[in-house]
Amino acid sequence: MARTSTGSGFIPALSGLIPGLSGLISALSGLIPALFFVFGLMGMLFGPKPLQAECGDCSMGMRNHMKLEHTVTLPEEAPFVRISLYHANPPSQVTLIMTGSSGILWFGNKVVPVSEDRVLEIQPDPGGVRVSLLKSDTETLQTFQTSAFEIESHQPEGMLKVVTPEHGYRNYQGRIGVSSRSGPSLMLINTLPLEDYVGSVVGSEMQSEEFEALKAQAVIARTYALRMMQRDGYDAYDMTDDEQYQVYRGVHLGKPYYRVAAEETRSQVLSWSGQMILTPFFSTCGGSTSHNEDVWVGKPEPYLRAAKDQAVCRISPHFAWSLELERSRIDGWVFERYGIRPDLQGIRFSQDEGGRVKQVILTGGGRELRVSGNDFRLMVNERLHPLAMKSTRFDWTESEGVVSVEGTGLGHGVGMCQYGAIALAGSGWAYEDILRFYFRGTNVVSFAL
Ligand SMILES: [Zn+2]
Repeated sequence: MARTSTGSGFIPALSGLIPGLSGLISALSGLIPALFFVFGLMGMLFGPKPLQAECGDCSMGMRNHMKLEHTVTLPEEAPFVRISLYHANPPSQVTLIMTGSSGILWFGNKVVPVSEDRVLEIQPDPGGVRVSLLKSDTETLQTFQTSAFEIESHQPEGMLKVVTPEHGYRNYQGRIGVSSRSGPSLMLINTLPLEDYVGSVVGSEMQSEEFEALKAQAVIARTYALRMMQRDGYDAYDMTDDEQYQVYRGVHLGKPYYRVAAEETRSQVLSWSGQMILTPFFSTCGGSTSHNEDVWVGKPEPYLRAAKDQAVCRISPHFAWSLELERSRIDGWVFERYGIRPDLQGIRFSQDEGGRVKQVILTGGGRELRVSGNDFRLMVNERLHPLAMKSTRFDWTESEGVVSVEGTGLGHGVGMCQYGAIALAGSGWAYEDILRFYFRGTNVVSFAL
């Protein structure tokens, strides 16, 4: 549906309000890190509160790992993060090229020097992996077999270029560990400094040059990563590199501003009442975000409230969308999924405060069934394509057996609207103000003491 411009009066009005708060927060900032640890300790003593929030598709932003503990212990120094690369679709073989520096490869107590530009061919092997160091296109310098190995460049600016048949090539900083998986295929674990990781996630999740929006995304990415790193029971890696967690595509060559966004927010996380928060985000809200409990199962979170952003995200290509479907097809899908065949007026909707469909009320054969709007949307998308119903923010009309759906926005609708953040940054908002707007009552704090 088309939405008219609301003008720019809204933004300066809020901007005028928020800098006043910024001053107060700045004055308190010296106290906040200390309070952060005190509250974290109290949380550990009195037991964490599990947040049961689930996200069905999460095409952008927070994924399926929302059942987390609230309480975290912050690291005292910048940590390293371990990412499983190509996790959902592991490569059958890998070509690895040492670029920008020489380096070393090691397994067991054996160390192999690797010169700059050396090419390694790596394949799964019954005993683990087989590695060939090539001398040229036709000559092999050395071949060995091992259960697993690690490789790293000598210089921080050196990179490991990874080429796979399934994914093309990407460049990585830090260290990469290689072992075999069933399939057979290869498992690659990239270990790198947190801030390098954050810079890459910013560029992988938000393609924009609005610097304050990129900084907001950096704080979100860091907060999320630190929470993930402090879970129990995940020994081999902290996160995968795909939508299941946060998208991480290695170094964005020629786009240093993503890394600068991480650097300029170094060590900063988003906090509410002294604890790091859940930081969901998504592409486009269409005018308002939603309360977390209206979209996912779980208790209300005070910082995940509906925020009306006056549709500043209309700059998004996903702002307005539409869909036409035969009602008979939908009835068939509903029967398959929910076991109820809707009557003529048997598909109705209830909306939440953000204008999203919270529940779909299905009636048929004397029965009534209520399902979540997000589940209904996913049912349609599973049968058509993942972006058929881009959000649950839609109007539904029926005429002569044809359903017309007109919607706004893309994604689940909880937390930060990315295109809204880009638009607000373009209007002069600082990243702290953008974050406080979409995550009510939160503060940007630094974990570096
Ligand atoms: Zn928005």
